[in-house]
Amino acid sequence: MDDLELASLYKSEWEFNNPIKDIYGRNRRFSSPHKNFFSPEVSSKLFKEGFVPHYPGNKEFAVCISHDIDILYKTSTTHVQPSIAKRITARAANLVGINYKPHGKHIELREPNKEWSLERLRKLNDGYGIKSSYYFLSLGHNEEDFNYSLAEVKEQMENLIASGCELGLHGGHKAYNDAGKLLEEKTKFNKETGLSINGYRNHYLRFDVPATWYNVASAGFEYDTTFGYPDSAGFRNGMCYPYYPYDIATGKFINVIELPLILMEMSLFNYMRLDIDTALSLCKKLINEIKACKGVFTVLWHNSSLDGQMGELYIKLLDLLKEEDPWFATSADIVKWWKEEHLLEQSHTMVKKLLDV
Ligand SMILES: [Zn+2]
Repeated sequence: MDDLELASLYKSEWEFNNPIKDIYGRNRRFSSPHKNFFSPEVSSKLFKEGFVPHYPGNKEFAVCISHDIDILYKTSTTHVQPSIAKRITARAANLVGINYKPHGKHIELREPNKEWSLERLRKLNDGYGIKSSYYFLSLGHNEEDFNYSLAEVKEQMENLIASGCELGLHGGHKAYNDAGKLLEEKTKFNKETGLSINGYRNHYLRFDVPATWYNVASAGFEYDTTFGYPDSAGFRNGMCYPYYPYDIATGKFINVIELPLILMEMSLFNYMRLDIDTALSLCKKLINEIKACKGVFTVLWHNSSLDGQMGELYIKLLDLLKEEDPWFATSADIVKWWKEEHLLEQSHTMVKKLLDV
């Protein structure tokens, strides 16, 4: 790939006006003109040209495990018999020849699902010395995919923070292309939890290039970590380093840090339809590519994916990562490190040269 193509890949140029979006408004991998998506080609280029990131304890690369909390409660409906009073009235009405049938009610039952519990996930991660990032939805009762209120999970959130994990906002279906809605969800989050947050990921990885970056920035977030393909693991813009997104319309960088998402478990199973062995081999390949340029491996694993094949693969992936001995850190810690150690500044200077801006 020549420099012009690498610059175009970094800028996600094709995504700005891609007419073929899926039903969630997302650009899919098959629309991309860049086919070598299992290699971080832009990061590799910067590395070859002398950019060498470093990490605490001289670790070779960094790993960021994260979880989008979509569901915590299982729900079901049950039918309740009509009241005694209604049944007596019905009998009396029927006796005088009036055909009246009283209706019962359908009521919704909900209870926390133990298999999806945050404590279970935290304990599992703790066994590997992993502090991860959790992105929570901040929705009202009537909104699409509402499953829990922030008040219901406040105590669990506090336990996560006490154990060194990070919390962020998981923007709902409408937030990604509506700046007002995104800000409203963040304000609700802050108000109901009393916590301040600096990271964002949108539900379903819904993303509008470049609007979502502007919306995330204007809501006051420091970083976004949505930008990965929903339908494939890999490097959506050739980067496995945190970076500043570029807007081809203005010719300027956007003032928010993108920590690109590289692996989501749903991509492997629901979209790519891989079996466990193939999925694990792909994970190994991605890890080797990232190690070779001392990048950041970002993983999204939902709390509801800890059983069956997905649970089995999660354990295998953590075992594999443990052997590789990277710096395990939350998204916030990685962004902080890249800023404090001037890594972001150094790589950004090289990116500007590559983009010739
Ligand atoms: Zn989600």
